[in-house]
Amino acid sequence: PAIPSIDSTITSKTNSTMSVTYDFTGKVVLITGSSSGIGAATAVQFAQSGASVVVTGRNVDTVSDVAKQCLKVSPKGVKALEVTADVTKQEDLRRLVDQTIKHFGKLDILVNNAGATIKANVTDSDFYQNYEKVMAINLNSVVYLTHICVEYLEKTKGNIINISSVAGMRTSPNNGPYCMAKSALDMFTKCMAAELGAKRIRVNVINPGPVRTNFTTSLGMSLEMRDKVMAAFGNVIPVGRVGESDDIADNILYLASDHAAFVNGSQLVSDGGLVASNNLNFDLVKKYME
Ligand code: NDP
Repeated sequence: PAIPSIDSTITSKTNSTMSVTYDFTGKVVLITGSSSGIGAATAVQFAQSGASVVVTGRNVDTVSDVAKQCLKVSPKGVKALEVTADVTKQEDLRRLVDQTIKHFGKLDILVNNAGATIKANVTDSDFYQNYEKVMAINLNSVVYLTHICVEYLEKTKGNIINISSVAGMRTSPNNGPYCMAKSALDMFTKCMAAELGAKRIRVNVINPGPVRTNFTTSLGMSLEMRDKVMAAFGNVIPVGRVGESDDIADNILYLASDHAAFVNGSQLVSDGGLVASNNLNFDLVKKYME
């Protein structure tokens, strides 16, 4: 499927009535999967709030596009660090952290956001391979990156925000590995919150509902189909719409800020009430995933 342009994945906050502003001046923020969607919006919001941002993904062009947007909004013109890396490769994660420390000298906030799913039914011949791939992207990468970042986050009394999904809380059709990975990520967050609190590192997780990004292209969904599915979700989500990348970026900046200084090990469900309403498994989604 065609890769949509980066502009379609970042929503503008200019029409927003919200006026929450944070000051992250001097903070160094590493956001995985920041070349698109939620991660890109988060990088731009952090840059706008004064932070030094590390933009990363596998695609050099989209990484560079987002870095340019960060520079444009940075109040003091702080240039983002661009790193092309595959989170499923330990050597890439090591290089990502090394380059961050070499360039900015420290790390204050880690946002584990990169993620993707692959349709997988247990009877498929390639089920186990796909299970391993989905675990590698959504879970193992986070575990390894956390492991190698703790020594730096301890020095800054920093924090970690993991991006899970409502799929970690409810099943979805032909999506078992992704649901399992996200569910394990929720528990990893709580284990790390308990373990790292003594080092004054906070760890929290966000479970977004459907958000209009490029995520569905990892399922081979066309943009037209994505928009159909999103419209249908909008009809069953209690607040009457799907999420936008900036909705989740807003949540991330709050959890990363001192306004959440006492929030540790918490799970922020940001889904317009979808899980509460039990409408996650409706017909259009079932039809597409079959
Ligand atoms: P996008 O597809 O728009 O962005 C995903 C990002 O992850 C991209 O920057 C992509 O960059 C990166 N990525 C994917 N695989 C790898 C890899 N192997 N190595 C490095 N980077 C990788 O999706 P979203 O913004 O929607 O997704 C962000 C997070 O939100 C994910 O964890 C997802 O599971 C979660 N989420 C999304 C929901 C939604 O409805 N959109 C709902 C609930 C949770 P590149 O391809 O260049 O490597």
